[in-house]
Amino acid sequence: MQTIDRLLICNAEIIDFAAGEQKKIDLVICGDRIDKVGQIDADAFSGLIFDASDHVIVPGLMDMHVHLREPGREDEETIESGCAAAMAGGFTTICAMPNTDPPCDSQEDVRFLKKRAESQLVDVLPIAAITKGRAGKEITEMADLLRAGAVAFSDDGSPVSNNSVMRRACEYASMYDAVIVDHCEDVDLAADGHMNEGEMSTRLGIAGIPNAAEAIQVYRDIELARLTGCRIHIAHISTRESVQAVRRAKQEGLPVTCEVTPHHLMFSDKALVVYDTNLKMNPPLRTEEDIAALEQGLKDGTIDVIASDHAPHSIEEKDVEFEAAPFGIIGLETLLGVVLKRIVERKVLTLQEALYRISTAPRKVLNLPVPQLRVGEAANLSVIHPTREWVVDVKKTRSRSRNTPYGGMTMLGQVAAVINKGLLWQP
Ligand SMILES: [Zn+2]
Repeated sequence: MQTIDRLLICNAEIIDFAAGEQKKIDLVICGDRIDKVGQIDADAFSGLIFDASDHVIVPGLMDMHVHLREPGREDEETIESGCAAAMAGGFTTICAMPNTDPPCDSQEDVRFLKKRAESQLVDVLPIAAITKGRAGKEITEMADLLRAGAVAFSDDGSPVSNNSVMRRACEYASMYDAVIVDHCEDVDLAADGHMNEGEMSTRLGIAGIPNAAEAIQVYRDIELARLTGCRIHIAHISTRESVQAVRRAKQEGLPVTCEVTPHHLMFSDKALVVYDTNLKMNPPLRTEEDIAALEQGLKDGTIDVIASDHAPHSIEEKDVEFEAAPFGIIGLETLLGVVLKRIVERKVLTLQEALYRISTAPRKVLNLPVPQLRVGEAANLSVIHPTREWVVDVKKTRSRSRNTPYGGMTMLGQVAAVINKGLLWQP
């Protein structure tokens, strides 16, 4: 990582989502600002020059669903190692989920996270808990948490089951136009399930989690959005029923948004024949029909965002029998590669549409300013080579954890640089 004094990026294609256009241009960055945009004579330029021919520049990529393990499980991920993984994945901004130990449910916890991330290139935006201790009973001091720097609320991993508590949380959040990010799971229906309930779970003899466990909570949340006016974002949507429900809610003009993870697009439950615990996540990998519905949801705009649900776990935790392993995989470093390989190469979305869902869309969902690629604006951007392939080497992850199913797989789209806060990172 280096501090930027004067940097010229030349011959890059800049994707300007606001204007809906892509154009070849040069860019000068001085310190943390964009100083010039246009045709710049590289021979007359004094400073660092980066020839970005064949690259695209987009507003800094953002992953709105990341689990850092600090405080509590620094052996699995720290704020620093999580940020290193984020940069390698092309991100300048991540949201940190609150299920740390202790959970992020007080102003002190939010401030701790912000303070620890201050010197990082990556902006770490805290998502605070909906309920104290993520116990599903008593609502947190949302106004104080927002004041301290929280950008949304979630009890991710421990969904708020009590509808009355969730209603009050929505009413409270809507007073501040804050977003509730919900992990939709009926915990009684999911019970002791470890994978998708269906033909595969019967064949493998593993207890299943039905699509209904997710869909029922999605239906509940949509009704609470209608009742309270609260903006609700459905995390890691995985079933065709959920996609259908969000599509209808949007048609009705309700303030409901959602995200999908790369792994729910890449793998079906058929991949579990090998009992790989790195394919165990919650919600579980679903069927090919669900994947088709998720792709359709991306195409028609029902699904707003693609986010990793980056969930580091130690080797000891994952290297056990399937039923005993915790849910979750890391995903920061492979999100872009999977999206370009699985979604762009197969023409589900165009490159521009896909990059929109991992840069501009998450900021719109959370009401955050979108970095502008214009003179005078803060330079917050990602430089990507969209057609270059690479192979995932698990041993080289920047994350402290290695729980990924993508080892040895070929990815598309290489990160060439990320720029934010006057800092430049290149692999
Ligand atoms: Zn979750």
